[in-house]
Amino acid sequence: MNMINVKINGVDYSVPAGITVLEACKYANIDIPTLCYLKDINEIGACRLCLVEVTGARGMVAACVYPVADGMEIQTNTAKIRAARKTNLELVLSAHEKKCLTCIRSTTCELQKLAQEYKVDEDRFCYSEKEEKKPLDLSSPSILRDNNKCILCRRCVAACNKLQGIGAIGATNRGYDTEIAPSFEKVLADTSCINCGQCIVACPVGALYEKDDTQKILDAINDPTKHVAICCAPSVRTAIGECFGYEPGTDAQGKMVAALKALGFDGVYDMNFTADLTIMEEGYEFINRVKNGGALPLITSCSPGWVKYCEHYFPDMIENLSSCKSPQQMFGAMYKSYFAEKLGLDPKDIVFVSAIPCTAKKFEVGRDGQSNDGLPNVDIAVTTRELGRMIEQAGIDFKSLADAEFDSPIDIGSGAGAIFGATGGVMEAALRTAAEVLEGKPLEKIDFEEVRGTEGIKFASYKIGDMTVNVAVASGTANAAKLLKGVQDGTYNVQFIEIMACPGGCVNGGGQPIQPAVVRNSIDLRKVRASILYNADANLLGYRKSHENPIVKKVYEEFLGEPNSHKAHELLHTHYIPRGL
Ligand code: SF4
Ligand code: SF4
Ligand code: SF4
Repeated sequence: MNMINVKINGVDYSVPAGITVLEACKYANIDIPTLCYLKDINEIGACRLCLVEVTGARGMVAACVYPVADGMEIQTNTAKIRAARKTNLELVLSAHEKKCLTCIRSTTCELQKLAQEYKVDEDRFCYSEKEEKKPLDLSSPSILRDNNKCILCRRCVAACNKLQGIGAIGATNRGYDTEIAPSFEKVLADTSCINCGQCIVACPVGALYEKDDTQKILDAINDPTKHVAICCAPSVRTAIGECFGYEPGTDAQGKMVAALKALGFDGVYDMNFTADLTIMEEGYEFINRVKNGGALPLITSCSPGWVKYCEHYFPDMIENLSSCKSPQQMFGAMYKSYFAEKLGLDPKDIVFVSAIPCTAKKFEVGRDGQSNDGLPNVDIAVTTRELGRMIEQAGIDFKSLADAEFDSPIDIGSGAGAIFGATGGVMEAALRTAAEVLEGKPLEKIDFEEVRGTEGIKFASYKIGDMTVNVAVASGTANAAKLLKGVQDGTYNVQFIEIMACPGGCVNGGGQPIQPAVVRNSIDLRKVRASILYNADANLLGYRKSHENPIVKKVYEEFLGEPNSHKAHELLHTHYIPRGL
């Protein structure tokens, strides 16, 4: 690495050539304030909070876009810099609806934190009181947009464009009238938005957030005629601790289960079980398509954001999608049928809740083809963030809870089910089962390490029986588009594809706790959260293959018959529709 010498606040440092002043300051352990900057996603120098003074420049420069040079002297904290940053914050606040008392982002808001740090006069350039309140966009089943709080940092626009390749929202109008919105005055629900929530986790303030469904859950819990059950997706346990001050990468499964029991759910279950069931159905679907000439490559369907993306952008590949419902939907379908009977419950009295890291699941619960016998499979999908708020509001001291176990009879998930939450995990889980079935003997090696890791697109090739199976994994729909275009033009010859809408998979879903840019820019949340799932797979769980899960075996023996049976199709499979752009 080519190193150069710089002086930061009078102290000498050696830093790599080609980096920005902002990155160089990390070598001096100095955090420069930012509002618009997100590493590799939004580097536009727009908010002017990262102003610094450097030799050779006229005036102050934006550290996030200004490159270092050998011999450069950098000042980060002079009176002039502090005054300029403070004025810029006051200008941001001049057009901002300041309602910190009730704002969903209060205490996690990056603007609020900086306003406190810089002791700003929030009304110095007050103009907003004369302004007409901008209407909220409530059209989406997943996302709420409040432009009264938008500070025009454009992080959401970059996330939607660069990570997802969608561009559902962008800057409209000019000057003081500039707003972030869909084009042509549409509402979000009328665009090709896939409800992924990557815009929410990028937003520094309370201008974007999930539709809150917590009151519906509290109402159901308070209704003595209802049986309220919840199942927890693998990724929720990897991040819910962050809502209560734990470092990213803390496994909070035991406390999460204890907190949900304390909230009053009648049953708290592990969604790893239906991740295993998905693998059974999807693995056999793959085997059937290979043997009987079905549409290949088979593409996974457990990510509802990805499924909607496919319907909008690759409608001619809908037949390649697995017909399997996602694990949350399979869980609800099984709970309101087989398990209701086991537990002596009338399915009509069940309110089934799924705890998920994903805002797109809120859209999925209302999709066509996600109900049986006139009852929705899942009644309410609630994100990790909403769960965190419910626990806090109920006064439950999360940190001091003793670990609890999931409830019987759905308390066993395999390691294969656990790794569903990370990009490559569904593929690895499916390969463990498909390879063993096709080879007809136990696998010697069950770690398919080539499909692990956070790269956007991964390829691997495996010899299974007398067949070579080429597989690909993509996360983030911009990467999915690259991969699928390569499949369509013959560049890539693959038979099985895993796609997750969110970069890194569900662990980095749009419903996970929001970490400020200063954390996101320095910690790979995808990696640290996924490490919890791989640790559970390797060290904590008794079974590592979906077809070995004893509950899965029993469900097939007693109820479903065999994977892809008629009964399984009725309950566990669905269909898709082409959508316009
Ligand atoms: S977005 Fe931040 S500064 Fe604005 S009201 Fe909410 S918490 Fe307060
Ligand atoms: S939810 Fe996803 S697709 Fe929709 S606007 Fe946000 S980033 Fe774009
Ligand atoms: S909605 Fe949030 S992320 Fe998007 S521009 Fe406004 S403040 Fe920035």
